Amino acid sequence: MFQPPFCPYRHCARRDDPRPGFCVRHGTYKAACRAHAVQRYRCLSCQRTFSRQTFRVDHHDHRPDLNPRLFLLLASGLGLRQSARNLKLSLSSTVRKFRKLARHLRRLNLSLRRPLEPSAVRLHLDEFETYEGERNTRPLTVPMLLASESRYILWSQSATIRPRGKMTAKRKKAVAEAEKRHGPRRDCSRSALQRTLARGAELLGAKARVVLETDEKTSYPRLAREAFGERRLEHRRTSSKLVRDTFNPLFPINHEEASARVLIGRLRRESWLVSKKRRFLDLALQLHMAYRNLVHRRFNRDEESPAQLLGFVPRRLTPEEVVSWRQEWGRRSVHPLSRSGVCVAEFGARAAA
Ligand SMILES: [Zn+2]
Repeated sequence: MFQPPFCPYRHCARRDDPRPGFCVRHGTYKAACRAHAVQRYRCLSCQRTFSRQTFRVDHHDHRPDLNPRLFLLLASGLGLRQSARNLKLSLSSTVRKFRKLARHLRRLNLSLRRPLEPSAVRLHLDEFETYEGERNTRPLTVPMLLASESRYILWSQSATIRPRGKMTAKRKKAVAEAEKRHGPRRDCSRSALQRTLARGAELLGAKARVVLETDEKTSYPRLAREAFGERRLEHRRTSSKLVRDTFNPLFPINHEEASARVLIGRLRRESWLVSKKRRFLDLALQLHMAYRNLVHRRFNRDEESPAQLLGFVPRRLTPEEVVSWRQEWGRRSVHPLSRSGVCVAEFGARAAA
């Protein structure tokens, strides 16, 4: 039986300090899209009412039943238009659903992670290129940080870079026109790398050693030292000219990037799918991370997901569980595997005990 973990209203004292019995049951209501009646509750402190649905990702949704299906379609590399056709949903509803789900998944990705236990952690870092709108004039770089053994994607987010490569007269003109329309194109690769490495550093204990595997890009050594500290860092660099087979030390990240190019439709080369804006690519990356880390097996021969191997969750999550409870309250949010309303922090502690 579901027990509300706290009062969802912002200015109520029982929001941050819920006590047993802070609310009472307050009737039910019948939602058109639900088979069962939804339980309502009344907070004894602020007297306001809320329901089980208040804590769900699909609150206010007209078609909650389509959320897990849309998640799976988008995580399998399908475009928004084809997903809309498959679900018999309008394009605009599909786009809105995608953004809502992806924003939720970003919070879920962050709330489920915990400090990494082992004393030495091996990470892989690399960047791959894509673009927003137009390939010739508006390129992007996408850094990706990977926990090597578990294949858990720690972070990935895009940044603008300046057009480079062969500049024909035609391309120069196109670049100038794009700058006129969108403003000068800045190179934000460095700050994106800093943010990505910081996401790794915040999961490491104070004394944990880090082995970081990258290619030989000249900016990496300094960024890595800044993020992890010189004393505990072992930075291994491999030429990107080395044959990209399974013996290449960069194989895990090369493989994960190839997987992202297949499973995120808009990253696929020579396809019609494209990110019109960078921020929606970032949402697609979060959706991919949720799928790859929580739902998918690490390798096809494995039973466990990357998050499970790191001890973040006790088992693989189903698409329904991934889009179940809202995660807007950090580690106080309801754990995706809890039916009774146990929060993420407590669920983790119980599992460990
Ligand atoms: Zn209240």
